[in-house]
Amino acid sequence: MLKAPSSKEFMDKLKSRTPGEIEFHQAVHEVVESLLPFLEENPKYKTAKILERISEPERILIFRVPWVDDKGEIQVNRGYRIEMNSAIGPYKGGLRFHPTVNLGILKFLAFEQVFKNSLTTLPMGGGKGGSDFDPKQKSDNEVMRFCQSFMTELCKHIGPNTDVPAGDIGVGGREIGYLFGQYKRIRNEFTGVLTGKGAEWGGSVIRPEATGYGNVYFAEEMLKTKNDSLKGKIVTVSGSGNVAQFTVEKVNELGGKVVTLSDSSGFIHDPDGIDGEKLTYVMRLKNIKRGRIEEYAKKYNVAYYPDARPWGVKCDVALPSATQNEINAEEAKILIDNGCICISEGANMPSTPEAVDIYIKNEILYGPGKAANAGGVAVSGLEMSQNAMRLSWTREEVDNQLKRIMKDIHTTCVKFGKSSNGFVNYVNGANIGGFVKVANAMIAQGI
Ligand code: GLU
Repeated sequence: MLKAPSSKEFMDKLKSRTPGEIEFHQAVHEVVESLLPFLEENPKYKTAKILERISEPERILIFRVPWVDDKGEIQVNRGYRIEMNSAIGPYKGGLRFHPTVNLGILKFLAFEQVFKNSLTTLPMGGGKGGSDFDPKQKSDNEVMRFCQSFMTELCKHIGPNTDVPAGDIGVGGREIGYLFGQYKRIRNEFTGVLTGKGAEWGGSVIRPEATGYGNVYFAEEMLKTKNDSLKGKIVTVSGSGNVAQFTVEKVNELGGKVVTLSDSSGFIHDPDGIDGEKLTYVMRLKNIKRGRIEEYAKKYNVAYYPDARPWGVKCDVALPSATQNEINAEEAKILIDNGCICISEGANMPSTPEAVDIYIKNEILYGPGKAANAGGVAVSGLEMSQNAMRLSWTREEVDNQLKRIMKDIHTTCVKFGKSSNGFVNYVNGANIGGFVKVANAMIAQGI
């Protein structure tokens, strides 16, 4: 992959200080590659050592999370919060509960979040947290006890003007509810300390939909630059959680046809399209029954491919919405050989660096997660505004703001990413566009 000698020195130093944090190195390397030419032209950022500073978290919290399972046995997990950068606003970013969670993964997510949040145009710094706790196969009571223990420690470090967590993989409405309840119990404060709250108790309408809707709006903006749209397009989607579900809903609304969904066990291929009642079924299956996507294949008599990912299915547009590094170089090639013209990322860093190289070399429309999936955190920002004003906006108001924000992010990417031949490198665009505001704020605020 990309290995300019100038970034090698920087990366070698970073790696020796942060051994084993592979995903974090991957995320930083991509940003450094995008930024180096820009920094040459703008030496003030080099003088101020912004790269060195922006890749070091302001603060990392690691804590014990003891809880009691339904058998009465004591379990111990590890909790984290990475407070990455507060130059342009309070730390903001989700919590991920998944057995693979470790420091390197959360640092990559927190680092990405800094750029993503800056791109939204809203005043939010970057953070991320979570735990190696696995909510799968746990009872509601177990999840509640875990969340209460997690928040018992976390509540000392967060607040509506300090650090505002939200959901991510494994943390949805149920978990946010338990976390919020515990914060309120301990601190005796009803504040916007978390986003993704229920609409009846301080949450924003459209927040559950926002990441998926936003990614589809972004894909539509990219297609528009080629005088094209999602109408009539065959779309592959990975994942089947919150992001994937509302991605499908919006693609259907815009006249595209989604033919795949997946989870960590495999994917389903429904050539007729996952529309109407089938999507309602998926939502019930995943959100209420907490079942596996394989059950869709049985119910609707379509193909199920265990231990496989959907990128071999012929499509015009691919919207990866599961997790990091779920498209490798080989899959990227297959996608393009099969005629895919647009890849827009609902997940964070779902494409490996080698896959990204292939997209760029082939000059296809490629929207990296930190731009394309920023709609989720953008509506979180709108939730913070509504909480601060103690009022709530209508669906139409929030959706209009979301559309406007995704359009602005697209414009920023074009501004900083357009090459001399007219090709828009959205990776460079997002990295430089996200960087400038944060870097300027860091310089203004001194060392
Ligand atoms: N976890 C989401 C993300 O990756 C949303 C974070 C938030 O709403 O704070 O951007």
